[in-house]
Amino acid sequence: MKIKEGTAAAIFIIVAAWLSFWFLYEGEQRLEVSFLDIGQGDAALIETPNNKTILVDGGPPDKAVLRELGRSLPFWQRRIDLVILSHPHDDHFGGLTAVAERYSIGAVILSDFPYNTPPYQEFIVTLKNKKIPIVYAKQEDITVDGVIFNFIFPFDSLAESKIENPNNASLVFRLSYGEVDILFTGDAETELETELLKISKAELSAEILKLGHHGSDTSSTEAFLDTVNPELAIASAGNDNSYGHPSPRILRRLERRGIKSYRTDQDGTIRLKIDGRSVFKNKACIIGCS
Ligand SMILES: [Zn+2]
Repeated sequence: MKIKEGTAAAIFIIVAAWLSFWFLYEGEQRLEVSFLDIGQGDAALIETPNNKTILVDGGPPDKAVLRELGRSLPFWQRRIDLVILSHPHDDHFGGLTAVAERYSIGAVILSDFPYNTPPYQEFIVTLKNKKIPIVYAKQEDITVDGVIFNFIFPFDSLAESKIENPNNASLVFRLSYGEVDILFTGDAETELETELLKISKAELSAEILKLGHHGSDTSSTEAFLDTVNPELAIASAGNDNSYGHPSPRILRRLERRGIKSYRTDQDGTIRLKIDGRSVFKNKACIIGCS
């Protein structure tokens, strides 16, 4: 009899714990954006309020992105609903082949900028072999779970583009959730930033800026920062990287403007939670707090 009571109590405790976990889990209507510490490169994971997963770039050609996805996602999660690739350099697409091996990917958005290096072509073949739909980016808004992805650049097809530096063919989009905007610029350098300034300030302004080209001084001009007017900037760069990213000059420029910055080489993976009004890091409110 005692055993039965004990068993019933144990079952009750397990069920109650499971229910409370589930209510907490379901009740958290927040967007989570994690800038992943994948070494020298870019990779950011976006988890929508209803657990859709969007990966922006996949870091360099090693397993770093798999390690960080494993740490970020629940162990049963084996799906990435959407991959957005900024441009065809291997510190951005390199890790995506491993992602396609481990996860089922819903679709990949990339630009039609022509780039014929064997590694990039092999990556495209991998996507095709796995029957992962490839969607060429164009100026449009896509909404996932109330999160708006406003694709800004390319303005038009880049299939016949004369752009010499692929960094300046980077796909640029702004994510908006409620009152909070994040601008993702890939490896945009001054040339592309200048091009972007042709569109309205209202379309570019954002509380958070993922710095172009790993915080290099080829990017983040005064004019661009004036227009985007961020409160927080993120540099995605590898520890002790040989390029000197992020540039101390750019970090000083941000500081002068009172823009807070985080960098993956020193801060590790940067996880931001956004409730539509405020941004939280490690449970502390950092933007839109009142
Ligand atoms: Zn890069």
